[in-house]
Amino acid sequence: MTGLQLSVVVPCFNEAEGIGAFHATLVAVLDGLGETFEICYVDDGSTDRTRLLLNSFAVRDVRTRYTAFSRNFGKEAAMLAGLRMSRGRAVVIMDADLQHPPELIPRMLELHRHGYDQVIPRRDRSGEGVVRSALSHAYYAVVRRCVDVQLLDGSGDFRLLSRRAVESVLSLPESNRFSKGIFSWIGFDTVSFRYRNSERVAGRSKWGSRRLLNYGIDGLLSFNNRPLRLAIYTGFWVFLSALAYAMWTVATVVLHGADTPGYATLLTAVVALSGIQLVTLGVIGEYVGRIYHEAKHRPPYVVRETDENCPAPPDAPPPPTPGEPDDPAGARIRTARQFAAFVLVGCVNTAVYLGVYAVLNRRIPYLSAHVLGYAVAIVCSFLLNSYVTCRTRPTWHAFVRYPLSSAVNIVASGALLYGAVSGLGMDKNVAALAAGVLVTPVSFLLARWAIMSGRRPAPSPGAAARRAEPPVGEPVHGRPLPSPEER
Ligand code: UDP
Ligand code: MG
Repeated sequence: MTGLQLSVVVPCFNEAEGIGAFHATLVAVLDGLGETFEICYVDDGSTDRTRLLLNSFAVRDVRTRYTAFSRNFGKEAAMLAGLRMSRGRAVVIMDADLQHPPELIPRMLELHRHGYDQVIPRRDRSGEGVVRSALSHAYYAVVRRCVDVQLLDGSGDFRLLSRRAVESVLSLPESNRFSKGIFSWIGFDTVSFRYRNSERVAGRSKWGSRRLLNYGIDGLLSFNNRPLRLAIYTGFWVFLSALAYAMWTVATVVLHGADTPGYATLLTAVVALSGIQLVTLGVIGEYVGRIYHEAKHRPPYVVRETDENCPAPPDAPPPPTPGEPDDPAGARIRTARQFAAFVLVGCVNTAVYLGVYAVLNRRIPYLSAHVLGYAVAIVCSFLLNSYVTCRTRPTWHAFVRYPLSSAVNIVASGALLYGAVSGLGMDKNVAALAAGVLVTPVSFLLARWAIMSGRRPAPSPGAAARRAEPPVGEPVHGRPLPSPEER
């Protein structure tokens, strides 16, 4: 066993809306304890972003771990998986919707330190609907009489278990699990205290009336064979009643010579008996079904991934690597490289302009040669800056924007030159050089904007390959997923 003091097991099913707030609250409470802890999330086949969020928590904090199922196996299976993951000396099981307040954990630990193996916070029923509350009370009243274990009204799965209690729970091999009953069945010193019921912070409850009814039937059948006994008692009493009725009929005929009653009595008896027989068969069927289920020895859940075999968020952007667009240091290196290329392209352009001007100057007026030379240099500069500086394909939109950089260059360098010569009295050649140097970074930024505006810089081949990978996080139902190793 590790030296961990506390594990917190949290089953989650479609909790993306509120899991962030829950995680932050829980970590804040656990940090304040001054104990070593781990959080064991179990994603029960969520179809929203829950699994990805759990993955990101685990990547950021080694104290957070998770297991994700291949589909929804139910909260019971999720709790079992969480208990199997847990390594702490004490284990708290709680819901992910903040209906089980993390603020109660210090009190639970305190009671555990006083020697209790199970600490159960019991919610009151404030804020709950009248019908649901009445049904719950009635259910617990029936269950208390029927089942062999003690089930407390208001006590759910929210509880602290000592390590030996957890080991006892895990030692039970049954796959049809009803944890409330199991927790009660294992025994040990147990204490409970009341807390105020609260609404879930986000999302919806996954327990519709049908699911609740099935859960209730599970609770009734999982921990005893009383329903079968009930069938025997009912049969016995019906038989005695029928015997008494038959004797009464015979006596009436013998004493008064009355006619035997008609078909109505017969029909009532047949219908009543059929009903009882069907219910009894149903009860037997439930037990046989459970035996069949257990006999198959299927695992209670199938794991899709854990924090250990899926260390990075599968469809989140990959962590930036040096030289790639998302990396700040890489972005600086890239800009420096582009600027150097831009200056070089500027030198080449000047040579192109001078060459064209020199050739045309002999045949056409020098001003026309200048304009033509300038136009050729701009086109050449645009193509070179697109392909070499920005490493992207030129577009017509970019070409239309591009002369803006040259226009700004001419206007700004002219203004600077004029200011330096007239205002500061600088040497004309030095002033021209200084103006050119000062304006070049602005021209570079403008030229890059003109070429790149509206598109992302081309990613490195490695990043492109990673982005081309299929998104592992998409829910896939009905076909097997390749294991992470196969991918
Ligand atoms: N849950 C689960 N699997 C399911 C249904 C629910 O893991 O199939 C989780 C759910 O994410 C939550 C806890 O079990 O953390 C309790 O569920 P819910 O809040 O819907 O139940 P309620 O509080 O309404 O009884
Ligand atoms: Mg809830």
